[in-house]
Amino acid sequence: MGKHAKKTIVHGKELICPVCGEDQFWERETLMNTAGVTFLGFDWANKPAQNYICDSCGYVYWFLSK
Ligand SMILES: [Zn+2]
Repeated sequence: MGKHAKKTIVHGKELICPVCGEDQFWERETLMNTAGVTFLGFDWANKPAQNYICDSCGYVYWFLSK
């Protein structure tokens, strides 16, 4: 980890890790259509989620587009 980490603004607010207080996150996109999620019947199951992962402790934020 580390080389892609940066300060991240979501909805006008800077992300701060609730666990360790870090403000550097790296980003990745995850498709939600895993078998388990689809089985549970969520209507957002096939949509991409944006992940921001704390560069310090690995805490993961999930943002689902509507
Ligand atoms: Zn953290």
